Amino acid sequence: MAVGEHNLVEAVDLVREYRLGQERVRALDGVDLALPGGQFVSIVGPSGAGKSTLLHLIGALDAPTSGSIRVDGVDLGTLDDAASEFRRHRVGFIFQFFNLVPTMSAWENVALPALLDSKSLRRAKPRAVDLLEQVGLGDRIDHRPSELSGGQMQRVAIARSLIMEPAILLADEPTGNLDSTTGDAVLQLLSQVAHGDSGDSGAGTRRLVVMVTHDEHAAAIADTTITVRDGKIA
Ligand code: ADP
Repeated sequence: MAVGEHNLVEAVDLVREYRLGQERVRALDGVDLALPGGQFVSIVGPSGAGKSTLLHLIGALDAPTSGSIRVDGVDLGTLDDAASEFRRHRVGFIFQFFNLVPTMSAWENVALPALLDSKSLRRAKPRAVDLLEQVGLGDRIDHRPSELSGGQMQRVAIARSLIMEPAILLADEPTGNLDSTTGDAVLQLLSQVAHGDSGDSGAGTRRLVVMVTHDEHAAAIADTTITVRDGKIA
């Protein structure tokens, strides 16, 4: 790595092969990546190209068949039992269908990762409320997901992804379930999070946001677009 440069994701010759009976599928076929912080990156490409596989490898949800990947300074090849710890602290995840707990309020959903990290919900509440204010939901902290719109639910999910202060956010089709106006607002928020201008105590923290999308408009809002085709970066 060059002096003064800090790539949050560095992958070299990443291969992921699936075996289905006798058949082998090369979902990723030799991918190199170098992504610094402070960027909103979109991954696009046709269905089956390997986008989700790549996102899952970056998030240590899956392991490569060969090749190496370093995320936020951690060599994922050495993680083994520490993978869940890595996922809890180093990366935040945002999903198409929000994945909120329906019986919990907005602030409790945001605080949940802290609870799973053996902190009490109460202790995490001030930070959770802070984050909800940051995403424009300061007046919705006690609402359940069913009492929120799709865009608001995705904002809660973005606040939740930030509570452990990860350097990297990974978003899988974050606008896939939203209308275009609501989706745009969510994309603007992700862009602000990447650039460190989302305006709270954590302001100035530049993060890497990596989003998989098949929405061309969503990709256009990102700073950088990576096109994946047949398991390779095009
Ligand atoms: P994308 O996200 O671009 O649609 P994926 O990364 O989901 O593509 O999949 C890439 C390729 O790997 C596809 O051919 C898909 O069928 C295959 N694949 C993905 N997951 C599995 C799996 N668990 N078992 C077998 N094949 C898989």
